[in-house]
Formats: sequence, structure tokens, C-alpha cells
Amino acid sequence: MSLGNCDILIQGGGPVGLACASWILQRFPEAKLTLLDRNPVEDADLINADSRGIALSYGSKLLLDTIHAWPADCADIHRVHVSQAGLFGRALMTREELQQEALGHIIRYRDIHVALRQALRDIQSKSPNFNWQHITGNAPEPLPNAKCIVHAEGGLFKKQDWVESGRDYGQSALVGLVEVDRAEPHQAWERFTAEGPLAVLPSHYGINILNLVWCGSPGSSQQRLQLNGEDFLKALQTEFGNRIGRFLKIQDRRLYELGLNYRKKINQDHEVWIGNAAQTLHPVAGQGLNLGLRDAYLLAEKLANIFSGASNEQTAANIQNTLESYAKSRKADRATTIGLTDLMARVFTSNLAPVILARGFAFLALQWLPPMKTALARQMMFGRR
Ligand SMILES: Cc1cc2nc3c(=O)[nH]c(=O)nc-3n(C[C@H](O)[C@H](O)[C@H](O)COP(=O)(O)OP(=O)(O)OC[C@H]3O[C@@H](n4cnc5c(N)ncnc54)[C@H](O)[C@@H]3O)c2cc1C
Repeated sequence: MSLGNCDILIQGGGPVGLACASWILQRFPEAKLTLLDRNPVEDADLINADSRGIALSYGSKLLLDTIHAWPADCADIHRVHVSQAGLFGRALMTREELQQEALGHIIRYRDIHVALRQALRDIQSKSPNFNWQHITGNAPEPLPNAKCIVHAEGGLFKKQDWVESGRDYGQSALVGLVEVDRAEPHQAWERFTAEGPLAVLPSHYGINILNLVWCGSPGSSQQRLQLNGEDFLKALQTEFGNRIGRFLKIQDRRLYELGLNYRKKINQDHEVWIGNAAQTLHPVAGQGLNLGLRDAYLLAEKLANIFSGASNEQTAANIQNTLESYAKSRKADRATTIGLTDLMARVFTSNLAPVILARGFAFLALQWLPPMKTALARQMMFGRR
């Protein structure tokens, strides 16, 4: 099949685009669907790709299980310890009190990516009209004719070719894999430092090898990136303390700029934007991909319905109405997740005394008001429904 005409065109073969394609084809295998993918054909060629640890919620696990795309290499979180460096206020969340198998799961970006590519390959064998088009360089201009275009081009903050609403937090995240000498299994730590959140999260490599996400000003993050291993570990130990013993080794350090960039309107005529192409968030609450997967799942349901003829004819007006109804159905979840993440990113990077005080009280409230804790955890796990 050539690039030619199709019913649905998905632009972007990242996790969200792949998941959306899989869910559409799972519901409607005859869909005339084209996926434009800039990534290499072979998984082996992704090996040096993004290795940062991503926190996926239980809700995302349930979604990915429907297409058998849950990666084998995964570390479960059973407890999260939240604290402020040198200040009062801390909270502990456990899976027992929330009655969940796990509070979340940490998986490397590339493992999620590869698991989704494999899931789509399996579905592809039963989808006669699916065209998985690998492209090099820029996407073809003009795009192939399609009745509906799904934008899943994703991207990182400040690396996208669109800027709409949002905020530059003046922060970068330094990520890497760090080895310590006595971590607790399945425990995650989120510590709020004067410069921003510092998270130490389990990894599938073993109890003492942890994913590090250290947010700070762009200047100091850059300096930390360039420190030799020994000096880096010393600086990290000073900031984090001794709760998990000594920091022994750091590897695979990478830097990401952090900010919020989101579209107010996610549909226009026959086009729709999902995942990071619709909203790019600060990772403080670990919500970007979780929200993107919910976008993909709900859009796939609507598109499969209309193109299989189960709901309406595929006239331009009906497609537009379907996208309008999709956008409406995503409004509450998007607004709550974007709003909550933005609030956390701002509150946890402020050095104003009243904000620091309020932050301490917020932790105490979380610790002593279980309904508040449960409500927050449910939002993080399943989004707003
Ligand atoms: C440091 C950091 C930590 C994070 N931690 C978490 C976390 O713990 N939990 C969480 O849920 N989220 C987290 N996120 C966010 C998460 O990484 C993103 O939300 C997620 O990757 C979005 O997926 P996506 O498929 O929309 O976009 P992407 O992952 O950016 O993928 C988009 C794909 O589209 C391709 N593409 C781009 N342009 C075109 C084009 N014109 N044609 C064809 N293809 C194109 C790209 O090459 C890419 O493969 C984190 C982000 C950062 C930076």
C-alpha cells in the first residue's frame, strides 16, 4: 500500500501514536489507517534511545494490558515517601492504605516504546488495510489525504515547533541511574529541595539501582551534568541525605528542560491532537504519558466506532462532530491533570516563605487526612472520569 489515501492518518510513532493505532485496529481491524513513524524499523536500532524511567499508573497498566503491551521489565512501587529537605512536613503513601496492588510502576521509556511496537506488529498481521510507514527526516509535505488526521508528534518542552499556552518553570531535570548501598525494595522517594523535586525511584535492575530525577535550575543542572562521578555523588548525597545509605555510582545522565505547553483547543476540522502533541507537562507528578494513553484510548474508541460504521456515516460533518465530542469528553481530565501538575510544579519550586509553610501543611494534611490522600492518588492513577 502506498502513502496515498486513507481514512485515518496518525502522525507520530511514539508511545501515544502506537497505542492509538493499536486500539483502533483492535476494535476495527479493517480500518484504512496509516501511521507515519520517524523511528527506525528495527527495535535494535532504538537501543540508544531514551532510557529515562517513566512512572505509569495502575490505570495505564489496565489500558496497556488490553493490547498485551505491558513491558516485562518493570519495577513496582509499594510505598512513596514525600518530604522537604531540611523542613517540616512529610507524608507516606502505601499500597495497603489505598488498597492497590501497587501505587505505580517504573519502566524505561524505550521499554514502553518497544512493547507497544511489538503489540502493534501483532495486531498488524490481522489488519489488511493498515500501512505502517517509516519515514526518515521530515514527514512528507503535503500529508497524504486522510478523512481524519491524528497528531501524535509528541516532543519535549522547548523542542516542539508549536508554543501555545503554558509556562516555563526555568527548570531542568537531570535523570540517570544511581546505585546506593541500602535501598528498600519497592520504595520511591520524592524530596522537595530548594531548587525543585528530587525523586529516587525503583528500577527493574535490582533493589539498589534506582532511577534518579533531579530537578533544578538550568544552570546548576548543567553543572551537575558535567561534574565527575565522585563529585556528583557527593552533591546528591548532601541534597538527599542518608536514608538509603551511600550513593555509590551514577550512569546514563541526561538533561531535559521542563515546562508546560498545551493546546486550549485539541481539534480543528478533521484534525485532532493527542499525547504530548496536545499537552507537555512537568514530570513532577509523573502524569504526561498516563494522560496521553487515556487520550489515545478514548479517541480510538470514537474513531473505530465511526469508521466501522457502528455509529454514523463518515461524512466530513460527522467526523468533525466525533472529534468535537472527543474533545469535550477529554476536557475535565485534561484540565484537572494539567492544573494539578502545574500547581505542584509551581508550589514545589517556590522559595517564598509562605509557600514553603503551606507546603509543609499540605504534607501534614495528606498524612493525616486519608480521604484527601485517596482522592489525590485516585486522580493520579485513573485520571478524572
Ligand atoms: C524527564 C521526564 C520524565 C518524565 N516522567 C514521566 C512519568 O514519570 N510519567 C509519565 O506519565 N510521563 C512522564 N514524562 C512524560 C512522557 O515522557 C511523555 O508524556 C510521553 O513520552 C508522550 O508520548 P508521545 O507519544 O505523545 O510523544 P513522544 O514520546 O515525544 O513521541 C512522539 C513520536 O513522534 C515522532 N514524530 C515527531 N514528529 C513527527 C512527524 N512530523 N512525523 C512522524 N513522526 C514524528 C517522534 O520521533 C517520536 O517518536 C516525562 C517526561 C520527561 C521529560
